[in-house]
Amino acid sequence: MPDTDLSFASFAFPPALLTALNEVGYETPSPIQAAAIPVLLNGQDLIGQAQTGTGKTAAFALPILARLDFSQRAPQVLVLTPTRELAIQVAAAFQSYARHLPGFHVLPIYGGQSMYQQLRSLQRPVHVVVGTPGRVMDHLRRESLSLASLRALVLDEADEMLRMGFLEEVTFILEHTPETRQTALFSATMPEPIRQVAQRYLRDPAEIRIKAKTSTVEAIRQRYWPVGGMHKFDALTRILEAEDIDAVLVFVHTKTATVEIAEKLAARGYASAALNGDLNQAQREKTIEQLKNRQIDVLIATDVAARGLDVPRISHVVNYDIPYDIEGYVHRIGRTGRAGRTGKAILFVAPREIRMLRAIERATRQPIEPMRAPTRAAIAEKRIGQFKQTVFDAIASEDLEFFGSLVDEMAEERGVDQRDLAAALAWLVQRDRPLQTEPGQDDRPPRPTASDEPRGRFPPRERAAQEPVRERPRYEDTPPPRERAPQARPERPARVPEDVEMVRYRLDVGHAQGATAKHIVGAIANEAGIDSQYIGRIDIYDDFSTVDLPEGMPRELLQHLKKVRFGKHKFNLTAMSQPQIKGLAELSAESVKQLRGSPKPRRKRP
Ligand code: AMP
Repeated sequence: MPDTDLSFASFAFPPALLTALNEVGYETPSPIQAAAIPVLLNGQDLIGQAQTGTGKTAAFALPILARLDFSQRAPQVLVLTPTRELAIQVAAAFQSYARHLPGFHVLPIYGGQSMYQQLRSLQRPVHVVVGTPGRVMDHLRRESLSLASLRALVLDEADEMLRMGFLEEVTFILEHTPETRQTALFSATMPEPIRQVAQRYLRDPAEIRIKAKTSTVEAIRQRYWPVGGMHKFDALTRILEAEDIDAVLVFVHTKTATVEIAEKLAARGYASAALNGDLNQAQREKTIEQLKNRQIDVLIATDVAARGLDVPRISHVVNYDIPYDIEGYVHRIGRTGRAGRTGKAILFVAPREIRMLRAIERATRQPIEPMRAPTRAAIAEKRIGQFKQTVFDAIASEDLEFFGSLVDEMAEERGVDQRDLAAALAWLVQRDRPLQTEPGQDDRPPRPTASDEPRGRFPPRERAAQEPVRERPRYEDTPPPRERAPQARPERPARVPEDVEMVRYRLDVGHAQGATAKHIVGAIANEAGIDSQYIGRIDIYDDFSTVDLPEGMPRELLQHLKKVRFGKHKFNLTAMSQPQIKGLAELSAESVKQLRGSPKPRRKRP
C-alpha cells in the first residue's frame, strides 16, 4: 500500500507534472513508485518485479517525463509492451501525466493499425514511442523508425512478451539502440530467459521487488467478482442491495473516484461519503464518527485515508480498484472482521488483474472464491425481508393510534376489506422498489446497463421527492427504448366489470419518460379517486400511453387528469377518436413488421 510518509512532491518532478498528478487524483506514490522513481530519475537501470495494478506504469512514465529533452525531435524513449491494448493504455497514461507539458508527443504503434498512418506520424517530432515488438521491429527494418537518439528503453511485462514469443524481436530491438541508453525491465515473474536478457542488456540494475507478506485473514470471507471498467459501479450497487450489509468500506485508487462514487451512491439513496487525503483531521474524524453512529453506511476511501480505520460495524470491504500489492490488500480487508466479528471482502478483478488475484491467494494462503452475482430473485427476497422488518419495526416502536383510526375510517367509508387497504398501502410504499420478480423471468443474474443500475437502499431510506421514478432495472433481455417498436404492450389485463363501457384516452408519457402501468394506475387512482378496478387496459408506447377509463367521467375530473404530472411531464390526458384508435392499431401491426424486417424501427406518433 502507498507510503504515507512520502509524497510526489519529494521527487525532483517539474511543477507541471505535480499539477497533473494532483488532477488525476493520486495522493501518494504506490510502493513500486516509491522505490522505482528515485532510481530512474537518477539515470540508473532497473529491474522491477511488479504486475499490473501496482502502479508500475506511472513508476516509469513519471521519471521519464521529468527527464525529457523537449528540444530533441527524434524519439528519445521507447516502451515495448506485449499487446496493443497495453500499448494504448501506456500511451494514454503518458498523455495524461504530461497534460501540462506543452508540446509533448507520445505515439503508440502496433500491428493492425494503418502502416501509412504510422509512417506519417513517425515523420513528426515524437518524444515517446510505445509499441509492440513486432511492429517496432518492422519500422526499424524499413528504417521508418530510428532509435539512434534513444535515451531510455522500457520493457513492460517482459515475461508476457516472452510468453507471446517476442524474445527475438525484443533482442533485435535492443541491438538497434545506443548502448548509452537507460533500461528498465518490468516483469511479474523472472523466468530464466528474462534474467538472461537483463544480464546481457542492463547495466548494474537496481532490483525492486514488492514483497508479498503472508498474513492470516481467516476471519474474513473473501470473494472476487470478475468485473472491470464501467460495470464496476453496477456491481457495487448490486452488492449493496443483495448482501447482508451493516456498513461497507469501498476502496478506490484516487480521491476523485472517492467523491464520484460517493455522489453517485448518494443520488441512489445510499448514505455514503468519501474519505480521502483532502479531508483535514477534523473532517476525517467527523466522517468516521458518522460511520460509527450509522449516519453513513457506505464509505468510499483511498488506502491512505483509511489507514488504521477501526469501526467494528464494517461488515464488508469492497476492493473496487485492485490494491497495489498484497500488503495493501491485507490491510484493506483487515478493516472488516474486527472485534471478533466475521467480515466479508469482495475484490473486483478485471481480466488483466487475474495475476494479482492469484498472487494474493498464494501470499495469504487463502482461496478467494468467485462470487455468484446476486440474482433478481435474491434481490427481491432481500427487499421483502427488509420491507417486513420496516413494517414490524414501525408496529413495535411507533404510536400508530391515529393511523389505526384512519384505516378503520377508510375501510368503513368505502366498505373495503382491511387486507386490501393494507395491500394498497404496502404497494404505495414499495412501488419504486418492486418486491416481485417479473412473472416468467428466469433467475439468471441480471446484467444492468450503464444507465440503469439497481437502485436499492439498506436500510430503506426516503427517496428524494423529485427523483425520477424507475420501476425496475432494465436487463439484458429487454431491448433498450430506442430499439423498441412503438407497438402496444398490454401491460395490464383488463379486469373491468363487463357492463362498464370504456373510453380510450391518450397520455403524453411513455417508456421514454419511464412510465409503467403501475405508475399510471397509481396516479389516476390517487388523483381522480377512481377505484383501480375501473382502470382498464393500459398500453405503453415509446413516448405516450393509452388507458381505458369508464365512459361518462366528469369533465372536471378529466380536466384535473390533464394536469397531473409524471415527474416533469404532464399527463395531458385526451380522449382518442375511433380513427385515432384504429390508426394506432395499424401502426402497431406495421411496427412489428418493420421491427422484424429492419433493425431500426421508425418512430411515429399517431
Ligand atoms: P498500473 O499498475 O500501472 O496498471 O496502475 C494501476 C492503476 O493504479 C491505474 O488505474 C493507475 O491510474 C492507478 N495508480 C497508479 N499510481 C497511483 C497512485 N500513486 N495513486 C493512485 N492511483 C494510482
